[in-house]
Amino acid sequence: MTNKYMYFIANWKMFGGLGTLNSVNKVIKFLKTFKKSKKIKIIYCPPNTLINLMSEKFIKTSVEVGAQNCHESMSYVPLTGSVNPSMLKSVGAKYVIIGHSENRQSGETDKLINLKVKAAIKVGLKVIFCIGETLSQKRKKITKKILSKQIKLGLNKVQRTKNVIIAYEPVWSIGTGVIPKSRELLKTIDFIKDKVGNNKILYGGSVNPKNILELKLIRNIDGFLIGGASQEAKKFIDIIKKTYN
Ligand code: PEP
Repeated sequence: MTNKYMYFIANWKMFGGLGTLNSVNKVIKFLKTFKKSKKIKIIYCPPNTLINLMSEKFIKTSVEVGAQNCHESMSYVPLTGSVNPSMLKSVGAKYVIIGHSENRQSGETDKLINLKVKAAIKVGLKVIFCIGETLSQKRKKITKKILSKQIKLGLNKVQRTKNVIIAYEPVWSIGTGVIPKSRELLKTIDFIKDKVGNNKILYGGSVNPKNILELKLIRNIDGFLIGGASQEAKKFIDIIKKTYN
């Protein structure tokens, strides 16, 4: 049982079936079965194509909407296929995930991530800033070094850091069903807290309705970023309910 104010963020990625109006309606249906609480912040990060629709549907609720990435440009430029933070904000996004390991793996550097964070903050979005080590980095015991570097470079000269939420997502845990040992996770989150001060720190990586019973006991976690298990509206809500029961 926790009494803390916690974040629950659904990362819908490009999962099959989640790009439709139907998937948004299912979320609305389940949210209605859920008792609102001042202790909970729920954020859905759907594909960009659904941000507008979702934020309109959520208008009378406390649920907010975020994007999964953005371009680093603060102005409107001729770049085919790109979407900048102002455009996301104009359709109702309040948050944006930046630095997700899937995007780091496809070539996003710390420098680019830093530009994206600055652009998003500048236009007034809150940033869900992802960091995490790979399995080989963990085996080499360089997790702390990697996290320090990602924080230092990714948040370099970022203003209004209170608008940054950190999501610690060990890469080896994303989508694998494997989560870190509780003691290990507690220590890593404490390490990150020491580096960033007052920012909220979330955990992400294979969170599901079963392992939430173990994860919710880790005292320094401020919430969860949830990928696979957010695909089903009921599963995501179950995770939230189990955190507070
Ligand atoms: C993620 O990719 O942000 C994530 C947490 O995924 P999953 O829950 O599927 O591991």
